[in-house]
Amino acid sequence: MELLSVVVPCYNEEEMIRIFYDALVKVLNTMDMNHEIIFVNDGSKDKTLEEMLSLYEEHKDTVKVIDFSRNFGKESAFLAGLRASKGDYVVVMDVDLQDPPEFIPKMFETMHKNGDDIVGSRRVTRKGEPAIRSFFARNFYKVINKMSEVQIVDGARDFRLMKRQVVDAILQLNEYERFSKGMFVWVGFKAEYLEYENIERAAGETKWSFWKLFRYALDGIIEYTNIPLRFPALLGGLLTCIMIVELIVLLVLSLLGKPVGITTLILSLILFLGGVIILAIGIVGEYLAKTYSEVKGRPHYIIKKYYE
Ligand code: UDP
Ligand code: MG
Repeated sequence: MELLSVVVPCYNEEEMIRIFYDALVKVLNTMDMNHEIIFVNDGSKDKTLEEMLSLYEEHKDTVKVIDFSRNFGKESAFLAGLRASKGDYVVVMDVDLQDPPEFIPKMFETMHKNGDDIVGSRRVTRKGEPAIRSFFARNFYKVINKMSEVQIVDGARDFRLMKRQVVDAILQLNEYERFSKGMFVWVGFKAEYLEYENIERAAGETKWSFWKLFRYALDGIIEYTNIPLRFPALLGGLLTCIMIVELIVLLVLSLLGKPVGITTLILSLILFLGGVIILAIGIVGEYLAKTYSEVKGRPHYIIKKYYE
């Protein structure tokens, strides 16, 4: 029988572990598949680990627990879970039941019907979420999709079903700062998104403060676009050009015998130099952008199938 791995990152989720496990197993048992559930304790300060270990004691054959030495963030927890997973299929999901386990069989159905390699999920509504958070989230997708070569689906959640091959591809991405929403798009393959209405957390509270989320969004933009690094080159180039024209105009005027104020001349020269300096920074930025993409060490390509 085929094996399904479920990877669950958890941070301070003591109330949720058991509720989640029961809901998940109820669904998994209706499926014609073996399963393993990999809980990653991301440095929780409450009784999360104890809850996990008691499940582990009861179900040693299916439950695995990875315990981090401190809080490394959800992306690192994902990574550890994916590395540990042995399944032919892997699902990653949150422990707070915002990702409904009943969706897993539906995801399989879609995958088999349409020959997908990844079936993700996206919420079409954001009800129950603070308005300001929704506002920033929506605009984040607009900005990153304008600037980046990878197109991230608006409202896409981290709740995904993927084939082994996709997991192996994700594990080939070596970058230290991991932004999985981008990585899943970057690796390609045939992906599809099931839509659902936002569901509020069953217990506990969100682990993302506004600033944590804001930084996460910035990480995504910095990881998947070089535009911020290119910005000075553009600005500096533009300013330099304008000031060259201005200086030529001043020169022509003074040759024609028109008086040119010393202040105008000095200001123009200062602005010209300013332009050159920003441009120089921009050139450094261009090299940095190249170095950055080399350092990330992403593979040049991912092969889906080798026909020979
Ligand atoms: N999480 C984690 N490490 C963190 C923050 C969150 O492993 O540093 C887990 C958390 O326990 C949950 C999932 O990531 O299972 C999503 O977190 P949360 O529900 O707080 O995010 P939201 O649904 O509000 O986006
Ligand atoms: Mg949640």
